[in-house]
Amino acid sequence: MFDRHDLAEMELGELEQALESMGHARFHGRQLFQWVHKRGVTDFADMTDLGRELRSALAAAFRIATPDVIRRETSSDGTTKFLLRLEDGHLIESVYIPDTPAQTFCVSTQVGCAMKCGFCLTGKMGIIRNLTAGEIAGQVRVLTRELGMLQSRFNIVLMGMGEPLHNYDETMKALRILTDEYGFAMSPRRITLSTVGLLSGLEKLAREPIMPNLAISLHAPTDEQRGALVPINKKYGVADIIEACKRFPLKRRSRITFEYVMLAGVNDRPEDARRLARLLAGVKSKVNLIPLNAAAGIPFDRPSDETVNRFAEILAERHLTVSVRKSRGRDIRAACGQLIVEGQKRSAGQQLAVTM
Ligand code: SAH
Repeated sequence: MFDRHDLAEMELGELEQALESMGHARFHGRQLFQWVHKRGVTDFADMTDLGRELRSALAAAFRIATPDVIRRETSSDGTTKFLLRLEDGHLIESVYIPDTPAQTFCVSTQVGCAMKCGFCLTGKMGIIRNLTAGEIAGQVRVLTRELGMLQSRFNIVLMGMGEPLHNYDETMKALRILTDEYGFAMSPRRITLSTVGLLSGLEKLAREPIMPNLAISLHAPTDEQRGALVPINKKYGVADIIEACKRFPLKRRSRITFEYVMLAGVNDRPEDARRLARLLAGVKSKVNLIPLNAAAGIPFDRPSDETVNRFAEILAERHLTVSVRKSRGRDIRAACGQLIVEGQKRSAGQQLAVTM
């Protein structure tokens, strides 16, 4: 569809190589990378420290794909949801969450999601396609520009649409782009990868040079309960996930976060908390309880605050570190599990109209 290669999805090394093979000096790669990722410039004509000739050669060989902002909604708590359109017309959502206390960008890794967790709206879309590394990092590029945060510090959570380990290669490449010293220069400690627990991916991740913080979407202490909520549990069960977490090479003082979406009457009983505590004994963990963000189409209810607090107390009494996730952006459907883009399945004619 495109004859020019997307420069936004290239790592610095690839860029340097491409320049060399075009007969230009490798060091221009750093300049280019800085323009795109550090300064958010996407028009070659504006890259003033590159010669005129190089700029036109680049413009002939490359494009710089940048998602378009279609809609921007701000919640009463300041959380801002961006609806972004990709080059092929597909839509994704990214969320800015202020003051948590850090500034956080919640980024998508796929259009839709194949995991179909029973309480998550994105799962209802099914998987449409993987995002490229450029589209994953591009969300950060667009949000920093839109929010005037080019110079600010922020965290990234891969907790938007999609399962990052189901799009392993592009997600890792995006992390290399985001952490490159000539780009955003993010510390991997400021990035959290949240996964439903695809063990094949987790094992690869354990050997990566760039290691983000890890969050595991556990949601239930037994296979019976978890299997009813998270279909992939039939392949990778609770015990396997816990074993993999025990083996995961954590940095000193770091811990794995276990996310636990609380569903009334399903996984919120005191005995569930006690089982969870036993399961996590011996794992360097912290537990993040996420009271369900309810929505039409989700066949579960949010437990009462009392139930959530009691559950948290039981874990704390057993020496687990526990926090309850404050729900942000619920009034604009920007909260966890509420990201969904409706009506993506267009007819071929409409699809064409969007791409043009
Ligand atoms: N696929 C990855 C990352 C995206 S989901 C994963 O499963 O971790 C990010 C988090 O939001 C997960 O913990 C997920 O279980 C949670 N979540 C999904 N739907 C939710 C809902 N309706 N209410 C609260 N949290 C939800």
